[in-house]
Amino acid sequence: MLPEFSTVIWVGSGLLLGWLVWKTGIGMLRSFTQLPPDPPPSGELRKVKRNFRCDVCGVELRMTMAPDEDPPPPKHCLEEMTEVAPLYD
Ligand SMILES: [Zn+2]
Repeated sequence: MLPEFSTVIWVGSGLLLGWLVWKTGIGMLRSFTQLPPDPPPSGELRKVKRNFRCDVCGVELRMTMAPDEDPPPPKHCLEEMTEVAPLYD
């Protein structure tokens, strides 16, 4: 006796859902275990001294190394940080 068509649909979508959940789980696991890319050799980096401030939360940081002398501003709170004059030295 053949199973009813609706049963086939339910079982099929159940399997599909399970497969999707499994795939998503594997993908998340991969993204956790994946190592960040290696930085370029230090000879290719330039020493810079630039201060940036986040206009949203007020945090300030100093950039000391960059791939070039005019690096794009880093992002914080999803906004680009603004460059500030160093307060000392
Ligand atoms: Zn911020």
